[in-house]
Amino acid sequence: MSIDWEEIKARHRIEDVMQGRGYKMRRSGTGFLAKCPLHGEQKGESFSIDTKKQLWKCFGKCQCGGDVIKLVMELEEVGAVEAAEILEGRKLMDDPPGMQRVPRTKREPVERPMEIPIMRELPNIPKLYKGEVRHWQALADLRKLPHLGGVHLAVQNDVVRFCLAYEQPAWAVLDVEEPCNVQVRRMDGGLWFERAKVMGIKHNWARWPVGLTVALKNPKAEIVLVEGTGDFIAAYHAAADGWTAGIPVAMFGASNPIHDGALALMGGRAVHIIEQHDEAGELATARWREQLEEAGCRVRCSKVPTPGEDLNDHLSAGRDLAVIFG
Ligand SMILES: [Zn+2]
Repeated sequence: MSIDWEEIKARHRIEDVMQGRGYKMRRSGTGFLAKCPLHGEQKGESFSIDTKKQLWKCFGKCQCGGDVIKLVMELEEVGAVEAAEILEGRKLMDDPPGMQRVPRTKREPVERPMEIPIMRELPNIPKLYKGEVRHWQALADLRKLPHLGGVHLAVQNDVVRFCLAYEQPAWAVLDVEEPCNVQVRRMDGGLWFERAKVMGIKHNWARWPVGLTVALKNPKAEIVLVEGTGDFIAAYHAAADGWTAGIPVAMFGASNPIHDGALALMGGRAVHIIEQHDEAGELATARWREQLEEAGCRVRCSKVPTPGEDLNDHLSAGRDLAVIFG
């Protein structure tokens, strides 16, 4: 079953979605301005809607924007397919075998309450496996890493698993003990439904950093904060090779702010941000640094030196890790 994204977008206008959820808007030029519903804005109106182009953007804390699908993804902290299903009020894609849908909990409209770090409901997770040497080697090969040590360490730390998702062999990045956020990628490196490299599992908390359970068990260790599944594995590779004694923790999506509940748990820690060398990486570092420093963290940052590269690129190109972790 394929989804006609353009048709769904044409059927649901951003201003209608906002109004339907009780957000007040003020007409401005050809569009609307509103208090940003994503960062619970109190003063000001950073959230702008271009009704003609059907695009929104938060010029304030979020510094992100998109179409109506992306808005529902952000509001509900779900993936694209589920966002489309919420808009349409019907199922658009069959669940993979063995997966069960959990009825969604209603979110209060208007100001988003701060979520406390207690699981409301478990995300739907396919059966997960630790795998064996051939799986670890295959993932190391996929990420172009010189050996499987980092993958193995991540599996031992219960932050990487192997699974079958939508009938595809896949690898998942998650906190097995507290699965707030589960990101799944195909073992063949292909795209999910021809559009996404990474798939979040239903009911994900998209802003919840993965690896936090390990960091919390090692309260004195530095947190090595990276963005994305690839850099998460790369950071584990660096840890396995002894370049850092820090604990890799990953955010997914450079435009995502860190979840308030997670920030409360990270408060006061030493954090080393590994910045990807592009504009999105720079913005992400600025946002996360501000959030972390507000939470009392001691933050330092290392930028991947080569323009356009992330930590995984740097590692797979055989470049020196001392410039980042030295
Ligand atoms: Zn915002």
